[in-house]
Amino acid sequence: MIARKVIINAAHSVGFDLVGVVPAQSLDVERNMFNTWLLRGRHSTLGYLERNVEKRFDARLLVEGSRSVVVCAVSYMSPFSRGYVEGCCTKIASYALARDYHTTIKEMLRDLAARLKEHAPDMQFRAFTDSAPLAEKSLAVRAGLGWIGRNSLLVTPEYGSMLLLGELVIDEAVDEYDSPLDAVGCGECRRCVEACPNGAIMDDRSIDTHRCISCRTIEREGATESISLDGWIFGCDACQHVCPYNQKAPMHRNRYFDPIVDPTMLDAERWTTMTEQEFNSMAGDTPMTRAGLERIRRNIGK
Ligand code: SF4
Ligand code: SF4
Repeated sequence: MIARKVIINAAHSVGFDLVGVVPAQSLDVERNMFNTWLLRGRHSTLGYLERNVEKRFDARLLVEGSRSVVVCAVSYMSPFSRGYVEGCCTKIASYALARDYHTTIKEMLRDLAARLKEHAPDMQFRAFTDSAPLAEKSLAVRAGLGWIGRNSLLVTPEYGSMLLLGELVIDEAVDEYDSPLDAVGCGECRRCVEACPNGAIMDDRSIDTHRCISCRTIEREGATESISLDGWIFGCDACQHVCPYNQKAPMHRNRYFDPIVDPTMLDAERWTTMTEQEFNSMAGDTPMTRAGLERIRRNIGK
């Protein structure tokens, strides 16, 4: 048994902004909603989402013997998260301007586990960040970090939605678990719905990935429908720029998430003339390598 207070303090000390703890259990309501979304075909060519649905919504099936999930979030809000000048045709989602969070957050989670092991030496754990079928946003809601905004992202009262999530699944019980937040939410706001260039935000707070620029510029190589990318060449933050919670959120504090690429120095001509070597030396540590230079170039002007 570990004390919740120990976990919260340790998570903050390794650099997370928000943390909550939930029991490892089946998330039935969330799984049913996800299955409905799949049945409607909104996942488009992201076929991997059809696999491991049971595991995705029950950490015990993903990690045998797990008893608790520590859900952590860290802000990457930077000046580039506020938006681009009108007409910019080389826009990049701001999370992609920093070092790849897969590496950074895994390191932070391992640090967190090491600190928890000082209190529970036999504790076994697995660390995840967008790296396994695990319903991260649903767990974050259950852990009281925030709510699912109309744009389907986790929105938090203090840090908005420019956050990255990581989870530590542990085989220890915790003395006290967190609960979802009360009395917060999007209210009457529909700014993100109105700002989405392609109408990809559905009434049920899900995203039609056929029409989502973020999916199209990074993941959906085989897509045939023609949509405008609205100047985005990697990811899309349009539905986050307008969110009032992001407009009042503080800048990130964790130096791991300092931008290492300045998108305002990279116009279309610079992207077109850049060599692979230049790309790798500039962006080799960022998530942009997921798409690669050629793919990013092909997104320009679409
Ligand atoms: S990421 Fe962009 S395209 Fe996708 S839902 Fe948000 S605004 Fe729309
Ligand atoms: S823009 Fe408004 S509706 Fe959209 S997520 Fe933010 S608060 Fe919710």
